[in-house]
Amino acid sequence: MKLTRRDFSRLSAMTALAGALPKMEALESGLAAQKFCWGIVGLGRISMGHFMPGVELSKTGKITALVSGHREKAEKQAAQYNVPSPSIYSYENFDEIRQNQEIDAVYIALPNSMHAEYTIRAAKAGKHVLCEKPMATSVAECKAMIEACRKAKVKLMIAYRCQYNPVHLKAIELIRSGAIGQVQTIESGFGFPIQAGEWRLNKKLAGGGPLMDVGIYSLNACRYLTGEEPGEIKANASTIDHDGRFDEVEENDGWTMKFPSGILASCATTYGGDTGGGGFFRVHGSKGWLGMEPAFPYQGKHLTGHLADGQKLDEMEPDKDPADFVRQADHLAECVWENHEPKTAGEEGLRDTEVMSRIYQVAGMKGL
Ligand code: NAD
Repeated sequence: MKLTRRDFSRLSAMTALAGALPKMEALESGLAAQKFCWGIVGLGRISMGHFMPGVELSKTGKITALVSGHREKAEKQAAQYNVPSPSIYSYENFDEIRQNQEIDAVYIALPNSMHAEYTIRAAKAGKHVLCEKPMATSVAECKAMIEACRKAKVKLMIAYRCQYNPVHLKAIELIRSGAIGQVQTIESGFGFPIQAGEWRLNKKLAGGGPLMDVGIYSLNACRYLTGEEPGEIKANASTIDHDGRFDEVEENDGWTMKFPSGILASCATTYGGDTGGGGFFRVHGSKGWLGMEPAFPYQGKHLTGHLADGQKLDEMEPDKDPADFVRQADHLAECVWENHEPKTAGEEGLRDTEVMSRIYQVAGMKGL
């Protein structure tokens, strides 16, 4: 584009003005020139189907690099998102992202056991990290990821999308405000019938069965709904279908948690059955109840309840997918630009991993 002298002075004035504003405000007012640049690590279902479309819709972000083992697939995505060819990396030359000034952060959407390695390598390359849940497949790995990011002075955020979702936030707010009285018990479940051949059934790649993959949504929800950390845990694991899918990981996990206030939570997760297409939770208080079903899908979350003041809740999530992913992308950009810690930093992933490790131990399985 050719700029006239007039265009040029207008642009200079806008840039100067943008510089005087905090970056988020500058973006909102359309004045910021530079967006938050994402490198996508792993081109699978969550990244191509949800996160990448989410970045495109975000105020803050753009996709500027891709990391994949499949060059052809990466080139197709690169064409769609205008990623230049030299910014397509393989897992082997991944560390060269260090030299790419057009990458602020990476989004790691690889099988669970690869999260630690790529987070640590990204941190060493000076890039901020948004890592998918579960954070890693062991407590030690989570600690190493936090340490690597701390040392490199980069942000580490774990992609707990429900913690950025307005319907979940409303449930939390209602509970905290006493709208259902003192919480007494919680029930939650999430599962789906898994297909043979998934990496999720490979212990080395997944770390464990449905607990690591979808049970973690119930665990995390119990922690953010109560605002407490679980004390005593009772747990069981089982496999009913001996059809080859569960030779390495369990099919079902059930566990209860006692929180310091006395709240009891009872959770179940399965790879053998359905929990209503998107999981659920139900919170029973001394003066009312609230629940969400489905609670954890990408869209269509449904909040219902009966509050202490007699009000009946019946709210459908208004947003459509990929809204959860837009909010996550914007959140990390804002944390970097305004230098604050992500709401779901590495420590949040570590806490879940510690609890999952305890659940496996109590259930008599090898811990994480
Ligand atoms: P997927 O199988 O669709 O994609 C995995 C990607 O990793 C693929 O691009 C694949 O090529 C790549 N890969 C590299 N090495 C691999 C290996 N050795 N084996 C298999 N794949 C390999 O998986 P997904 O469903 O996109 O899940 C990726 C991560 O995202 C997981 O950690 C999962 O828990 C998480 N996830 C999060 C959500 C969410 O809502 N936050 C939803 C789904 C998945």
